[in-house]
Amino acid sequence: MSGPLLQVKSVEAYYGNIRALGGVDVEVNSGEIVCLIGANGAGKSTLMMTICGSPQARTGSVIFDGQDITRLPTHEIARLRIAQSPEGRRIFPRMTVFENLQMGASLDNLKYFDEDVEKIFTLFPRLKERQMQRGGTLSGGEQQMLSIGRALMARPKLLLLDEPSLGLAPLIVKGIFEAIKKLNKEQGLTVFLVEQNAFGALKLSDRGYVMVNGLVTMSGSGKELLANPEVRAAYLEGG
Ligand code: ATP
Repeated sequence: MSGPLLQVKSVEAYYGNIRALGGVDVEVNSGEIVCLIGANGAGKSTLMMTICGSPQARTGSVIFDGQDITRLPTHEIARLRIAQSPEGRRIFPRMTVFENLQMGASLDNLKYFDEDVEKIFTLFPRLKERQMQRGGTLSGGEQQMLSIGRALMARPKLLLLDEPSLGLAPLIVKGIFEAIKKLNKEQGLTVFLVEQNAFGALKLSDRGYVMVNGLVTMSGSGKELLANPEVRAAYLEGG
């Protein structure tokens, strides 16, 4: 395949009459970590959900791996191996850690099941220790690990992460970001993440986009954006 793995082109998305995305262009190349930063309510989660098909883009297009997925239903998009760890993690609280991981596996990949679970336990040893514990009894950081682990069970070509650092202590965030970096470096996983933690996200990412009121207002390498005075003033200083 030539060209980006994911291309979001002039996408507009609405909730009823409310326009949440006003014509967004974003690209993610294979092997990259790319972040989208922006304030509360900027439209970051909406973009992530629109990539997954709900809400669908009203105008514009979403191209994944050379295929136009704009009008596909969410379950068909998932089968193309786009996996998401959604905002708020959304693990199944009454199921065990192991059962949560089972829920992430797709029927197409059952022959890899044991191998994939082992990989996730190597990445997050805490999940191995707690595999028989119910999801709802885990700490916030462990739930985030589980949410990422469950998404990885789908063997994604593209992993979407919505605010993996939300509500977690700095040391735990560091561990989660290190795990994301490891997945990218060692397994070549492509990652698109949404974050309010601009500093951590830009440090982790090859490239970043800044979103304000449903529009991308800036983009650049992680380093460039970290050094950019406007980004610093709006998202980094005093934060
Ligand atoms: P946050 O970090 O708070 O999740 P965000 O950047 O992800 O913010 P979105 O959640 O995408 O922003 O919200 C973008 C806009 O769409 C906001 O104005 C929000 O109020 C609105 N919005 C989000 N979800 C809905 C919904 N289900 N119905 C109506 N409006 C919504």
